[in-house]
Amino acid sequence: MVEILRIITEDNKILLGLLPPEQFAGGDFYIISSFGNSGLVETGDGLVLFDIGLRQYGRNLLKRIWSVSNSQIKYIIYSHGHFDHCFGYKHIVAEINENGWEMPEIIAHENCIKRFEKYKMLDKYHKWLNAQQFASIIKDTDKILDVNTLNPTIIIKDNEPYFFKLGKYSFEIYPENGETDDAIWMFCPEKKVAFTGDLMISSYPNVGNPFKVQRYPKDWAEALEKIADKNPEFLLPGHGKLIEGKDKIKNICLITAEALHFVHDEVVKRLNQGKWFEEIYHEMLKIYPDKFKNHPYLQPVYGCYQFAIHSVYRLYHGWYDTGNPTDLFPAKRNDIAKEIISAMGSGSEEQFLKHAIELEKENKHQLALHILDIIIDSQTTNNLVLLNAYKLKQQILKYLAKKEQSFIVKNILYNGARQIGSVIKHLLDDKANSD
Ligand SMILES: [Zn+2]
Repeated sequence: MVEILRIITEDNKILLGLLPPEQFAGGDFYIISSFGNSGLVETGDGLVLFDIGLRQYGRNLLKRIWSVSNSQIKYIIYSHGHFDHCFGYKHIVAEINENGWEMPEIIAHENCIKRFEKYKMLDKYHKWLNAQQFASIIKDTDKILDVNTLNPTIIIKDNEPYFFKLGKYSFEIYPENGETDDAIWMFCPEKKVAFTGDLMISSYPNVGNPFKVQRYPKDWAEALEKIADKNPEFLLPGHGKLIEGKDKIKNICLITAEALHFVHDEVVKRLNQGKWFEEIYHEMLKIYPDKFKNHPYLQPVYGCYQFAIHSVYRLYHGWYDTGNPTDLFPAKRNDIAKEIISAMGSGSEEQFLKHAIELEKENKHQLALHILDIIIDSQTTNNLVLLNAYKLKQQILKYLAKKEQSFIVKNILYNGARQIGSVIKHLLDDKANSD
């Protein structure tokens, strides 16, 4: 059965499944909205398909395409190699083979091939980490992720745009660094349509994903400026609704670029001042401008500003991030916590718990979590205190998750609460057995 995935939209509405093609730009252009959007162009001499979405939506994608055109697919373009953009190929290929048609050209960035190789090497790891990141919507990553890929036939090199014509339209393909190092965006000058992939997701850019490899904030900003320079009338984002109107598109691209420049330049400035991560991070939180915070297209629906700070820091800095030599070869958190508890003397677990409860009452949730971790990491033999520390931590994580906007943050917090749930169950079982 096809699992239903939610679509993240700019107005935060939840859409289900794969929507029917929506026609725009005078009739030959379609957006097929799903968890990852596809763009379809009827050129009069065959179809151009920008992104083919999730593996499990492949069959429906084909049905959606055939519902508006019986023409052959001549080109498929991958905006980047992520699983929600270029894995829905199986049914398309089967249909082509059945009809004895020629295979379409597949256009992708040269780094997309390296990405596919990496997916093969790290198959299990990626399934595990995507199960964390997408916990609320993907129950079985085996159904989604695949080491098999439809490989590119036209390979775009960095800094080498590629142009082709088909039927009534011409297509400009531009390679970029952005969310990934294999990003591509496409422009059709006749109708001024920009297909951006995840360079635009109608929310704060996913520029510092905590699970994933390095992203490129400055290059991303410059890519959005290049897109704005083309004065598109229509912008088909990687996720979310079609964006229409020259001025609106320009504003959205430029404010997003400005937000990326801001986080990049402010972190760089602080690196040049010899600051370490903690100082940079907390200063950056204080100076985040309201014009970004409140902008409808910069809401932290998926990633968030805090993640972006990490991204810039990691782009230019090594892993030694505190400047404190104690942290060069750190002891285990458990051992440190045990020593703290032991140094404080008997009954200190209760004191820490009492203090954490006070902090929670004062809405100092983050500090409460740190104090609770001393008890939890110490794995104290005082089972009642340990149990209550877990319970309070779980309660705080759920509370924070509930009011959190970012999909990724929400999943991390809920995952933590869920894991604690099974620990609590074990502790209660142990208690029942010993009673
Ligand atoms: Zn995507």
